[in-house]
Amino acid sequence: MRVQAQYVWFDGKITKWEDAKIHIATHALHYGTSIFEGLRGYWNGENLLIFRLNEHVERMFKSAKILGVKVPYTQQEVRNAIIEAVRANNFKEDVYIRPILFVSTQTVALDVRDLDTSLAVFAFPFGKYLPPGGIRAAVVSWRRVHNTMLPVMAKIGGIYVNSVLALTEARSRGYDEALLADINGYVVEGSGENVFVARNGALYTPPVHQSILEGITRDTVITLCKDIGIKVEEKPITREELYTADEVFLVGTAAEVTPVIEVDGRAIGDRKPGPITTKIATLYADVVRGRIEKYSRWVTPVY
Ligand code: PMP
Repeated sequence: MRVQAQYVWFDGKITKWEDAKIHIATHALHYGTSIFEGLRGYWNGENLLIFRLNEHVERMFKSAKILGVKVPYTQQEVRNAIIEAVRANNFKEDVYIRPILFVSTQTVALDVRDLDTSLAVFAFPFGKYLPPGGIRAAVVSWRRVHNTMLPVMAKIGGIYVNSVLALTEARSRGYDEALLADINGYVVEGSGENVFVARNGALYTPPVHQSILEGITRDTVITLCKDIGIKVEEKPITREELYTADEVFLVGTAAEVTPVIEVDGRAIGDRKPGPITTKIATLYADVVRGRIEKYSRWVTPVY
């Protein structure tokens, strides 16, 4: 899927899409030294609402700190850049928003400490990322990179080679999505999603220390579950716990709440989205469109 829009925000200016270019000697192109985020904006018929803008920008700054690169803007300036990138295109539909901070110096040196960074933000119309009626997933042969090898808590471009290999393997084997085990064999994440399983009415999800991205949707789901009285426990999940779960679902900004109806050829439940998954997916859809007053703190209007 190629993406496009009319305008992007690039180093402080609104620029035409086709003019937003970088040089081939750019550090980030060679070494994956970029920090990115993925946000969604939801059109509610009257306004476009960005979901959890503050948390995404906060994570971007944490990622930059972990990589050890400068962000030449304040968090307020980055939030404004994200809003402006959407506003410039006058979108009146659901969008995906991609801010990217990257090491922009033209060099082949590795040490990033004194190198410059650029910030760009683009957005484009975006519908469902995965089939909402339920997906078929496979535990792939690539393992989730361990946080003693790369800081998986940070959304760093280079780390996504792990996700690229995993999803490419799953798709080439005919599955919709990859599930990755960590080096100890516990199933920790999708290629771009956190994972939840339901057993006997309670939910389980891997803890943040188990080499996962600290997902903002994961946090949203944990908060919503607390509010509606569904117990969530953070604990390692084995492959056989996944196979025998009552329900499995993946969560992420792009995937939202996606039911998993099959893992490695085994039906999850009765191969249909289960009641807990459906309840959370429905609530999540209302929350992101600003339909529930209690969670209005999570949405930022663009217009
Ligand atoms: N894990 C990985 C590897 C991801 O790429 C994403 C998507 N950003 C997630 C989890 C979910 O994170 P979030 O809910 O913040 O989008």
